[in-house]
Amino acid sequence: MMMEPVNTYALTGATVIDGHGGDPLNNATVLVDNGVIKAVGSRKSIIVEDNIMKIDVGGHFILPGLIDAHVHIVGVGSPELLDNIVESNYLQAMRTVTEAGKLLEYGFTTIRSAGSRYDIFLKQAIEEGTVIGPRILACGLALCRSRGHGDSIRRDIYEFPEDFVKNNLPKALLVDGVDEVRKAVRQTIGRNVDHIKFWATGGGAWEKERTTDMHFTRAEMDVIMEEAQMVGLPVVCHAESVESVKLAVDLGVRSIEHADDDNGYELDEEICRKMAEKNIFITPTLAIFYFELEEGEDILPSWIRSLKRAKKNGVKLLLGTDTWADCATPYGKFNITEIKLLVDVLDMTPLEAITSATKYGAEACGIDDKIGTVEKGKLADLLIVKKDPVADIGILLDKENVRHVIKDGRFVVNHP
Ligand SMILES: [Zn+2]
Repeated sequence: MMMEPVNTYALTGATVIDGHGGDPLNNATVLVDNGVIKAVGSRKSIIVEDNIMKIDVGGHFILPGLIDAHVHIVGVGSPELLDNIVESNYLQAMRTVTEAGKLLEYGFTTIRSAGSRYDIFLKQAIEEGTVIGPRILACGLALCRSRGHGDSIRRDIYEFPEDFVKNNLPKALLVDGVDEVRKAVRQTIGRNVDHIKFWATGGGAWEKERTTDMHFTRAEMDVIMEEAQMVGLPVVCHAESVESVKLAVDLGVRSIEHADDDNGYELDEEICRKMAEKNIFITPTLAIFYFELEEGEDILPSWIRSLKRAKKNGVKLLLGTDTWADCATPYGKFNITEIKLLVDVLDMTPLEAITSATKYGAEACGIDDKIGTVEKGKLADLLIVKKDPVADIGILLDKENVRHVIKDGRFVVNHP
């Protein structure tokens, strides 16, 4: 099939799964013009003029490009933070180019960064056409307190000059106190980011960096919110305790990352309803939790109950993975596992999981006017899939089933 970008074409005969969650539309036509979806409907209802190229994709399924709402695109060559900080930043930056390509291969046409030294530049390179990759919502380095989750090197064992560590952490910007926080948010905004990300709690790297401890004071978090809101940027909040989730809801963040609680506390109906009312999303990142399970360990049932309760109360759950190193969590391949986990673990229907992975992701990114559904007027970010993901969501785990990935109307991945 075609490789070269064509300005105007009609995809005909496929079943369209539009991302809204309704019944798929059989034998449809999707008309693409200059990167934008010009029309979608049944084949009979859409007239395609003779001079327009028709691409017969009968027997295939068209869905919106996928969105991973929690990715660290950091190019690290090792799973060890100690290696990551001494490894060349140039080398890491180059590897991010391949990571971007791998994400596209599995159908991810958009990613929301959750903290990266390179996301701003990779985004720029992709937008100018130098690199082929997903569209990126960037945040630069995520805000982290000293010795927080992004800086979990054991100072009781290792010594490094403080500045060296600060200048080489792959994901985090270390800030302490309201003045430093304010300055850091302002400087981050000045780097043309799309959102601000911060760690409200620890991430559980070792015993003094626990998930259940708050890592910023209320005053520090208020400053993050105040500065972000002044310029209209959303805030993405890592929160791994019910206490921190409640605080984040109160603060009015855009999305809460993980929302687990190692102490076994659960999100109750009241907090779930509040979240739904304020349209605050949760990115569970099931994939990384399953990846990190030790032998014989299981996922906390209280967390799964919390997530299901949130969903039942109308909270929108996002597809997000916490992909952070190709050697540990291979880009693309790891990200796509999340869509099956949403179905298997959270009892979503395949259509609901697709909506999480597309429409809701676009809403959380604040670009649902441009992407997220197969709809007239949206950018043509589309997957053409060989088998039916509604019958079996697992078919997406094999990238060979994703025949074409289209981004901005361009065929950027083609599998035979
Ligand atoms: Zn993360």
